[in-house]
Amino acid sequence: MASDKIIIDDDFQSIKPLVFKYLSSDESLAQIQQNSDSQWRSSNDGTLNLGIQPNAIWVSFTISNQTPVNKTLYLLLEHPLLDSVRLHQSHQDSITTFAAIGDREPLKNRQIKDDSLVFVFNLDANANDVFYMKIVSQGNIKLPMSLWTPEQLLQHKTKRNLITGLFLGFLLALVFSNGLLFMLTHKARFLLGSLYIACLWTLITVTFGLSYRYFYVDVKWLHEKNIALLFLTAAILLNFLAEHLLELDARFKSLIRIMRITFVVSLLILLSLPWFSYATGLHISLFSTLVNLVICSGVSGFLLVKKQTYSKWILLSQLSYLVAIIFSIFIFNGKDHNLVSMSTLFMNSFFISSMVLSYLLILQFIDRRDLKIQRQQALLAEAKIKDNLQLETIKIQQELEEELESRIQEHTFELQITLQELEEKNRELEEKNTLDSLTGIRNRSYFDKKLTMEFRRSHREQTPLAVMMLDIDFFKKINDTFGHLAGDDAIRFVAHTIQTSLKRPSDEVCRYGGEEFAVILPNTDTEGALLVAEAIRAQISEAQVHTTAGIINMTISVGLFSDIAQRNHEPNQYTALADKALYQAKHAGRNQVVFYDDTAQRD
Ligand code: GH3
Ligand code: MG
Ligand code: MG
Repeated sequence: MASDKIIIDDDFQSIKPLVFKYLSSDESLAQIQQNSDSQWRSSNDGTLNLGIQPNAIWVSFTISNQTPVNKTLYLLLEHPLLDSVRLHQSHQDSITTFAAIGDREPLKNRQIKDDSLVFVFNLDANANDVFYMKIVSQGNIKLPMSLWTPEQLLQHKTKRNLITGLFLGFLLALVFSNGLLFMLTHKARFLLGSLYIACLWTLITVTFGLSYRYFYVDVKWLHEKNIALLFLTAAILLNFLAEHLLELDARFKSLIRIMRITFVVSLLILLSLPWFSYATGLHISLFSTLVNLVICSGVSGFLLVKKQTYSKWILLSQLSYLVAIIFSIFIFNGKDHNLVSMSTLFMNSFFISSMVLSYLLILQFIDRRDLKIQRQQALLAEAKIKDNLQLETIKIQQELEEELESRIQEHTFELQITLQELEEKNRELEEKNTLDSLTGIRNRSYFDKKLTMEFRRSHREQTPLAVMMLDIDFFKKINDTFGHLAGDDAIRFVAHTIQTSLKRPSDEVCRYGGEEFAVILPNTDTEGALLVAEAIRAQISEAQVHTTAGIINMTISVGLFSDIAQRNHEPNQYTALADKALYQAKHAGRNQVVFYDDTAQRD
């Protein structure tokens, strides 16, 4: 096996990858050492990935120190998930066996506490040592081996740790910032986003061996199941988040159903994972994760075509994770040849997926808040418009009321005026009713009322009341001689004469009928009344009435009666007695005044 010999010369710094021979066998070291060369196979160049193996894998290589000094070398195995790796160094006839290391072996077994598996061994000057390594692992057996001087390994590790540290620190920052946003906003999506990124972060630390190195917890179950659980949990979280972030409405009922079914089935598979063996569980998990992501990103892709908001970001986040899953499936089935590209790929895809998701969560939150503010502003504006409208309505109502009130006032005022006018008219009418149309003096009906009034006053005040009845003598003749129109003139003349002869405001003359007049003289005794009557008679008898028909000379006869009104008397007794006196005056030859003498009558 000269071709497998690894030469260490003066210029040696590192060999990467290490070429070795291997075989699959559960035999012991002694038996393996007996094996003929033909049973061994060469790893050729590059990294060997055998996938999941039922048996242990034996690896063998020879290192030849061609320098005159003893060397300390580091053998680096950059697949931290291997369960158990035991190294045997055969020097001349003695065999040195190193403590088994791997993620099922205790941390204290490790000579160097690194996230990768590192063996430290010495090589004597000019020694030719054969190494045997037994690898037992439930996961895929991948053997990216390299050989380093201590200084070179330190340099290599420092560079890698810096990149990994930065990357993990960034993811952790996203985990915390989403967690913080959840605490600030109480929106569950931030918590889910935080958990999703935390899952990816944990996946990286586990697959890179960092969790083993830094957070070693001696729980076998957890070490067996964690990767399988994490892959699917992350997918489920992303699935759940996607459904909410895509804001699917009633139009996409069937898509919602697809996503929910995927979610529930994935969840059930997740819950059943602990009951499967490591390898089966891992296969089930990876396959379920793949199916979950394909379905969900299919939905997102469909929605992207439909131009649904946020769908491109969700799709990007899902596809990034999907790429990592597809790649992982290849790796766990022994289909890759370069570990470095795996870590780079994991970092890149997880970085994109987490970053895009975080961005989307914040974007959506801001969008929704903006929308809420816009809606509130719209509502506020609407309320303002309504308020204004109400104010306007109230103002119009007030104006209308005021106008109505003023109109009512106006109308009431007009009505009052009209009523007043009406009253006045009524009064005028009443007054007119009490006037005689021919002479313009009071008529008979007024006389009757006035007489009753004065009768009561006479009785109340015990003052004498006088009533005169005047009648034009031989008026028929006047009518016959001068005509009725001239007769009317004569009547008007007599009325005017009587009226002007009355001096007291309480005296009143009325046309009693035809050419007859009645005069009321309150607070006037017989003597006073006789004086008034005589004055009137004299004035008329001396007067000449000029009419169109010629000059008329005429006389009047007057009958009067005066007395203090008695309780048992009637007002019309005055007219009756005055009329009696008039009758006497006519009989006595006319053109004279006669007063009714109570005592004379009784005699
Ligand atoms: P005496 O009184 O002196 O006895 O005679 P007399 O001619 O006046 O008689 P009487 O009183 O009976 O006649 C009244 C007449 O007066 C009757 C009627 O023709 C006339 N007469 C009554 N009213 C009016 C009137 O309004 N206008 C005119 N022109 N004549 C009237
Ligand atoms: Mg007469
Ligand atoms: Mg007469």
